[in-house]
Amino acid sequence: MIRIKFSKSVPPLAGVLAVVLFLLALTLIDGSKVNLNPGTSHGQPEISSPISSPSLTTSPSPKPTSSPTPTLSPSDPSTSTSTGENTHTSGESDSSSEPDPSGDPASTTNAPPLPTSDPILSRPIKERFADLHNYNNKQFGWTVYPQINLPNNPNFYSSVSHSPDQESKRLYLTFNLGYDHDDNTIKILDTLKAKKVPAAFFIDSFFTRRYLEHCQRILDDNHIIANHTILHNNQVTFLQQGNLDRVITEAIRLDELFLETYGKPMTKMIRPPSGEWSQRLLEVYRRLGYATVMYSVAYTDWDVNNQPDPAESLEDLMEQIHPGAIILLHPMGSTNVTIMGDFIDRCRAERYEFLSLTEIPGLVYEH
Ligand SMILES: [Zn+2]
Repeated sequence: MIRIKFSKSVPPLAGVLAVVLFLLALTLIDGSKVNLNPGTSHGQPEISSPISSPSLTTSPSPKPTSSPTPTLSPSDPSTSTSTGENTHTSGESDSSSEPDPSGDPASTTNAPPLPTSDPILSRPIKERFADLHNYNNKQFGWTVYPQINLPNNPNFYSSVSHSPDQESKRLYLTFNLGYDHDDNTIKILDTLKAKKVPAAFFIDSFFTRRYLEHCQRILDDNHIIANHTILHNNQVTFLQQGNLDRVITEAIRLDELFLETYGKPMTKMIRPPSGEWSQRLLEVYRRLGYATVMYSVAYTDWDVNNQPDPAESLEDLMEQIHPGAIILLHPMGSTNVTIMGDFIDRCRAERYEFLSLTEIPGLVYEH
């Protein structure tokens, strides 16, 4: 039993106020018992195994009450285990076994709290998701080799991996950011500015809080800045655990944090950590107003301590690009700094042009 004593000099109203505040504090302390799982900052590789992706087949999927009705569902990866689908050779799915590539202990402590009493999880909002069990939650990694055959249609859960506009030679440059290294992000931004190339940056809460000048520069240069979740955890796993609240707060809280910090909203686009997704996750994001933006071109560029050869990386990217490609790069690595200008020039020499994600035809998101 906790007793609160007030001195006689405290007016009755102030005493009542103090009790209310104390009880409120207790509630907040109790409500903040969310396991934030330290050590999960961004920096995990984004690419799943460099193998063919699970194919999509039409299936008699259940019809949700809300539109649009999904018409595709991923096939069971267990039917194609010989090719290793849905394995994680790069290990990005289990961040607990990975060192923090940022090498910065602060990266594990700066995440904003995710209170369970979040008003966005009020009953009406939860009711909006009452039929989620109708959506398949089988997890897939987002593979990049060969050309993915996953939902490329904006009408499929408002998600794209490349533009449905395959006629024009258009490229969409995107970056994932959880930390910077050696100001390489600024160098990338300098190159983009000099060459007038629009890009999109997907960031987590650590980058939002820690890299104020970087974020402001991205905004000032009129690039898209969008959501890569609060803590860069596997969101499909949360759904498997029935923890829809966590998935929603991981997205919405970051929007709020960014708006509070910079006075401007993020673009309502999201990229789930490490490219791990399920139909159910895509549907959650769609109902929250996001477009889920994946990618069709990427390479192993994320380890700042083990950077790939620049010349080989440039050739790798040039071989991968295709009309409508959404390219994922990590700007903290030195290799991308080295090749960025040449990459842009060579793409343009092949008559490609760079567009903003907002120009992907038909992509639905709140704005
Ligand atoms: Zn990431």
